[in-house]
Amino acid sequence: MAQRDVYLVIGGSGFLGRHIVEALKNRGDTVSVFDIVQRYDDTPFYSGDISDEAQVAQALQKSGATCIIHTASPQHGIEDPALYWKVNVEGTKAIIAAAVACHVSKLVYTSSAGVTFNGPDIVDGDERLPYPEKPMDAYNDSKAKAEQIVLEANSKGGLLTVALRPAGIFGPGDRQLLTTTIKVLEEGKAYIQIGDNTNMFDMTYVGNIAYAHLLAADKLTPPSPKDMDKVMEIFSRPLSP
Ligand code: NAD
Repeated sequence: MAQRDVYLVIGGSGFLGRHIVEALKNRGDTVSVFDIVQRYDDTPFYSGDISDEAQVAQALQKSGATCIIHTASPQHGIEDPALYWKVNVEGTKAIIAAAVACHVSKLVYTSSAGVTFNGPDIVDGDERLPYPEKPMDAYNDSKAKAEQIVLEANSKGGLLTVALRPAGIFGPGDRQLLTTTIKVLEEGKAYIQIGDNTNMFDMTYVGNIAYAHLLAADKLTPPSPKDMDKVMEIFSRPLSP
């Protein structure tokens, strides 16, 4: 039987990270949290900043992690491009370097559906969509760069990597979507409408996104030549209009 992974959830004090931690604990896995903020005291916690490789490496060594789930990011909407770059780009590089140095075998990264969006509608989009030439904003630009760094690190130094792209996330513990919506209502801005009221946006329940991260970690094994043939075939199909 395959050895069970030991997990370090980076950003595990956050909205999605906490749901991932709970889902792992509910199925009996060993899990620790790495974050700049501690919000829960029921899980081994390592305080640190992902842009500091030594702090990440220390948490990896102490926790004995074999799988990192990296959900840390400053929230969307902050007017600080340098912070997004430092945490999402430099921080993700530091996580990968620490993971390789500590012989971690898996890294699951929470990207964002926004990495391929900069205004025009996306209908039936999938992984084949290119990154836009002009990113929507500094947050999405940094998420796209981080995602590329994670994917390029795949199969190097013994590390397997995967990135997931959630769109809007809702559910218990949300600190962004509902607070922003209530603020809009309180400020009387609800009368502003963009478009003709037919636009749609993907929203996913946080428990389902957490489950997707567990599945991604479970399935993260080197692909067989047959799997690779299937992937190449899918990617050679034309994008729907
Ligand atoms: P969140 O703010 O609730 O959680 C992020 C966590 O990361 C926080 O606990 C924060 O303290 C931690 N963190 C931030 N900077 C850090 C640093 N330098 N070092 C260590 N920890 C740090 O956010 P969330 O809504 O749970 O989002 C989780 C992930 O999902 C993010 O990567 C985000 O980009 C992505 N995402 C979120 C949504 C959404 O609708 N919430 C949609 C798409 C993608």
